[in-house]
Amino acid sequence: MKTLRQIEYKPAKVVGGYTDRILRVDLGTQEITIQELPPDFKDKYVGGRGYALKLIWDGTTRETHYDSPENILVMASGPLGNEPAFPGTSKFIVGTISPMTDTFIDSNIGGHFGPLLKLAGFDALAVSGISKENVVILIDGDAQTISIAAAPAYDRETDEGALSFGQRLLKDVNGGEYSDSLAAVTAGQGACNARFGIINSLFFDIRRKRIRSKQAGRGGTGTVMRHKGLRGIVARSSLSKVNGNNAIDKEGVRQAGSRLKAVISKCDPQQLGMSIWGTTGLSEYMDKFHIFPINNYQYGQSPESSKLFANVFLDKYFSKKIPDGCYYGCNLACAKGAENVELTRGPRAGRAVDIDGPEYETVGAVSSMGIFDPHFVMEYSWYCDEYGIDAISTGVTISFFMECLQRGFLSADDVGYELTFGNIQAADRLLHEIASGKGFGKIVGQGVARGKKWVAEKYAARNGTSEDAAMAELNKFGMEVKGLEFSMYITKESLAQQGGYGLALKGPQHDEAWLIFIDQVHKELPTLEHKANALKWFPLIRTWFNATGLCKLPWIDVRNPEAAKTSEPAKNLPTLAYYVAYLNATTGSNKKLEDILDDSERLYILQKLINLRHGKGTRASDQIPLRAMGPAYFNEYEARAEYYDEWLQQQLGDNKAPASPEQRHKLLMEKRFEAYQQLCDIVYEKKGFTSEGIPKRETVEKFCLMDEQARQLLSESGV
Ligand code: SF4
Repeated sequence: MKTLRQIEYKPAKVVGGYTDRILRVDLGTQEITIQELPPDFKDKYVGGRGYALKLIWDGTTRETHYDSPENILVMASGPLGNEPAFPGTSKFIVGTISPMTDTFIDSNIGGHFGPLLKLAGFDALAVSGISKENVVILIDGDAQTISIAAAPAYDRETDEGALSFGQRLLKDVNGGEYSDSLAAVTAGQGACNARFGIINSLFFDIRRKRIRSKQAGRGGTGTVMRHKGLRGIVARSSLSKVNGNNAIDKEGVRQAGSRLKAVISKCDPQQLGMSIWGTTGLSEYMDKFHIFPINNYQYGQSPESSKLFANVFLDKYFSKKIPDGCYYGCNLACAKGAENVELTRGPRAGRAVDIDGPEYETVGAVSSMGIFDPHFVMEYSWYCDEYGIDAISTGVTISFFMECLQRGFLSADDVGYELTFGNIQAADRLLHEIASGKGFGKIVGQGVARGKKWVAEKYAARNGTSEDAAMAELNKFGMEVKGLEFSMYITKESLAQQGGYGLALKGPQHDEAWLIFIDQVHKELPTLEHKANALKWFPLIRTWFNATGLCKLPWIDVRNPEAAKTSEPAKNLPTLAYYVAYLNATTGSNKKLEDILDDSERLYILQKLINLRHGKGTRASDQIPLRAMGPAYFNEYEARAEYYDEWLQQQLGDNKAPASPEQRHKLLMEKRFEAYQQLCDIVYEKKGFTSEGIPKRETVEKFCLMDEQARQLLSESGV
């Protein structure tokens, strides 16, 4: 590789989880700088998501779009990332202005890149500018150099996707051998052609003896990366990962970690069994409770779903005896994978590949297309990762267009072929067209929000109706909010999860508030007040996980038996106490849970201000499609009529429901709409927002965020 620019540096030592340094790379000018942070920066902005938010708030404007040179691609872990003594410390955040939502997006990702970036001396990497040619960045803590290099020649070989390129790159920079001292992030060709490009995080798994990958899937971070001309980034450090954070109280870290590990070992096999099944174990639960997306979320259950249950993947594909953590020390070990799976479709048909996953979300994306073929799930998973496109947005957008054909908004002539639910050939063809930017894939690669506009225009011109009328209909079943496609949970029967998706600052991704399990399955949020409280509390604690570099699954997916003795078992507070202890032992702080929630709320409000700046911060942006509130069409109502009739009767009290099923359906949807608006009102109040969903001045001041930009923004918003 030809080096274009290189600097030498002395890696900062990690102390108490931080290096107090950010690496800044401007790809337009090829300038590489090291920014020393004032000691109080971390106190206010904590880490991962916080650093990304602050850099975007200060360094971009409302005119900044995903493809603007000044847009910043931030990668940062946080003070608690990188500690094998504690489970789930591999996570880092990718934050930027999104091509999907046109506002701040962050996507969390596992693997070794975050830990190695920190060991190489940086709390965060911030990339701005646009390179004229494809480049890679090499952060070499061992050689003490940081380089921008021309992307190697194999970048241009058509066969090299995000995974293949990353595998070759990792060998290339290490004398032809893999090592767990190196990790890479890459973006693929699909990210150049679709707005929902992902970033792959590649690392060497010493147990499987191969490169494995995890993904920052949501919101088009890979599209930003490729637009910058950035093909890959490698981080290297041979420093020991054990006690890599140089914790202030090492024994405290060890104790907190071993307590959490003990709970996981004891409870996970009896609960969700993530260590056995991976996240595919969720398919069966979701199907049982009518939450599994079928045919673009029309139905939550299917007689065919069992073909996609975890036992199928475990028996046929997963290596059963290998614990599959995405970082050292995670005994929840949910990152399942398979070797030598033969591809039967697409341009690589006939090739045997190693596949990481599938995750539950990928399974749900395929069932949403009405497809129940496990081998197609495996292939779809691999192709999405290799092309570098989001398996969720890809599946949801294809499903949306399938429904456009079902309901007569489009015909096969518009697509070029019969794009019907359950049609594997059509879905497979479209997947490759999206990645290559060809045929109908050019339209689908723009996502649901832009797809709706395209269909509305076409439909209105053809039928002599208004675009607004067509759009109103498409808004019922186009499964997006703020421009981001829903992740794979049907919310029709969970008001709390409707809020979890609608009010999520980044758009409907469950990592801000995954309440469906505690609301719909465990029935732990029985009243509107419970649901609203959960919509305040859970996003804050989840923000903290994203700020500190931690995986949430050991907390949220393994219920500590001691939680049953508390007044709010869903919060799993006994386990959270281990996390608080881990934080204090690492950083030397003396925080309580309330302090942590305050730290998170500051970041939450800052993210809300960025949304406001980019036109996505008001009540209008929190509205969800009718289908997310209930059965948008009569066929959906009919499939669960008993449940819906009972719910309607509860709302009506002593008044009688209409005799006609059509009238009941209509009234039901009116009541569902009212319930969602009522929920928004209460949640806004609890969060310190106006009824329009805008933070009040005192809320912004409380968290010391009232700078000139915030003051002007609130004035313009009439607050
Ligand atoms: S629980 Fe799964 S995703 Fe989370 S750190 Fe462990 S292996 Fe990775």
